[in-house]
Formats: sequence, C-alpha cells, structure tokens
Amino acid sequence: MEWKRRPRRPGAIIVLTAAFVVASAAPAAAAARGAMADYELVFPVDGEVAYEDTFGAPRSGHTHEGQDIFAAKGTPVVAAADGTVRLVNWSRASPPSRDRCCSVVIDHDDGWQSRYLHLDNDRPGTDDGKGWGIADGIAPGVRVEAGVLIGAVGDSGNAEATRPHVHFELRAPDGAVTNPFAALRQAEAARDSLLGSTALVRRGASGPAVTRLQEILTDLGYEPGPIDGRFGPATGRAVVAFQEANDLDPDGIVGPASKEAMRDLLRPLPVLQRGDRGEDVETLQEMLAAEGFDPGPVDGIFGRLTLAAVTGYQQAMVLLVDGIVGPQTWGSLRMR
Ligand SMILES: [Zn+2]
Repeated sequence: MEWKRRPRRPGAIIVLTAAFVVASAAPAAAAARGAMADYELVFPVDGEVAYEDTFGAPRSGHTHEGQDIFAAKGTPVVAAADGTVRLVNWSRASPPSRDRCCSVVIDHDDGWQSRYLHLDNDRPGTDDGKGWGIADGIAPGVRVEAGVLIGAVGDSGNAEATRPHVHFELRAPDGAVTNPFAALRQAEAARDSLLGSTALVRRGASGPAVTRLQEILTDLGYEPGPIDGRFGPATGRAVVAFQEANDLDPDGIVGPASKEAMRDLLRPLPVLQRGDRGEDVETLQEMLAAEGFDPGPVDGIFGRLTLAAVTGYQQAMVLLVDGIVGPQTWGSLRMR
C-alpha cells in the first residue's frame, strides 16, 4: 500500500494549547518515572480502539512502560504532537532502514517524546513480515504536525503473537517515562466529542463538540469562522453550506445525518492509480462521471479510460496532472 501524508488534522489546535499548558506546568512535568502525564495530545490512532491502563504491568524481564492501544491492523497511526521524527526502526538512518520494521520515535517541539511500536510489517491480508507500515515521507529529521499520518497499526517486533496494537510511550523532557493513560483518554474524548456522540449541536451551543465541528468544517473546506468552540452565525452558515452540498436537510442543526456524512468524508481514502481495483475505484468513477469526465464503465477497475478521466479532471481543476488520485484530487472531488 502506498501512504501519503494527510493534511494537518484538527487536533493541532489542541496541541498548541498543550504546549502552553505544559510549559507552565514544567516543574511538575520533570516528573517521577511512572507518573501520570498531564499532557494534551492528539489521539495517536485514527479508528476504533480498545485499551486499559497496563502501565507498570509485569512483562518478561521488565515492566510495561507504555499503553497498548488495540485496533484493526492497518488502522492509521498519527503523530500525537508537533515535532521532528527522531528514529525510524530505532535508527537515525535516512532513508529509513528496512530492518527491524516498524517503529517511530518523535521528539516534540516542547521537549517531550512519543514512541509508536509494533507498526504494521505485513503486506495486506498476510502476516508475512514483508510490509512497510511507515507512512511515505516519514524519516529521521522530518518535521511532523500533530495528526499527520505516520504509519499503520500492526504486530511487528515482539508483538507477532498478539492482537495488532500500538505500544505508545510518552517521555517527559527530563527523559522520565510517564504513564500516558489519562492523556490518551482525554485525547480520545476530544476526538470523539462530536462524531462519537448523538447529541444535536446547534446555534448557541459551545464547548469541545463545537470546536471539533469547526475544525471538521475547516478541514472540509467550509468557513465556520474562528475555531473558538462557540456556535455562532458563521458556523451556522458553514453547516448549512455543508448540508446543501451533501443533499441533507439544510436546517443548520448537526444531527445524526450530518455526522454520518462527516464521518464518511473524513474516512481516509487510499491513493489510487492505474491498475488498482475495488470499491474505492468505483466511488472514484462515480464521482468523475458526475463531474462530466467519462471514466468508462463504473466497474471498479482503474484502466485507461479512468486514467484519462482523472487527468482530464486534474487539468480542468488546475491540480497536479499526474493521473494519481491522492489527497488533493480526492479533496477536490469531495468538495464538488
Ligand atoms: Zn506495550
């Protein structure tokens, strides 16, 4: 599978706040080993997850120094904070070494550090150890923003015999290994504040769900005004515009149908090119046809005609004309 960097995700705003909080709490943060970290981060796994607090649990020859976040193999793993990649596969070599796949260590801008272990080392549908679960462009020295795709959940390293998960570690600036459990729960709640709840969100509302709504609308190309957690007129207009563009009742109230449409639009789509097959190719063909670019039969096969339709569309939209359907082309199609 080919990985592309994704645009900055909404959580980045939260992280800017975090840098401030952490800076002001620095003395306490020079923490005792094993202390519960008071740290705001972006939840590092972008999908359905399960985890309990297993920090300090006995492991063979040591105690557990992080949290295991279980998720389906291939689930996107994203950077928990703004920073610079320090190690890939425990090495500073760039391009990254294919040996010891797959893990990433990120030095945060504020001095903290996060580690992501057991990333996917298998090819899709196998346990063959021949995959590469590190995102394209992720190498030592590379800058990453919070929420950027860095890899995929897997079972590499000493996790081959376990269910796929990310072992996530968080180290304080003084190097102390902290317990990230509370920080993860908080980050997960922030992530799910809007789409994980059934509450209606409407004009006059305020709080994290509205912040998330404003972030999502911004991500999707709408203009909800400042991301301030307050549902005012500008946010209302953006919601109505979103609803109209998605054939929803334009009532300005964010309910189940609007949330489902958002969830669908936020689903990461694979990079597609000639030779690819499947449901996502079919979706692409439908979208191209709706825009008046004939992809040939809508059959889920990315052949010559679909390629011609893609390049025609890219040309018309003044995108990079490479015939490859990545984040830019998907984003443009989704906006129409
Ligand atoms: Zn672990």
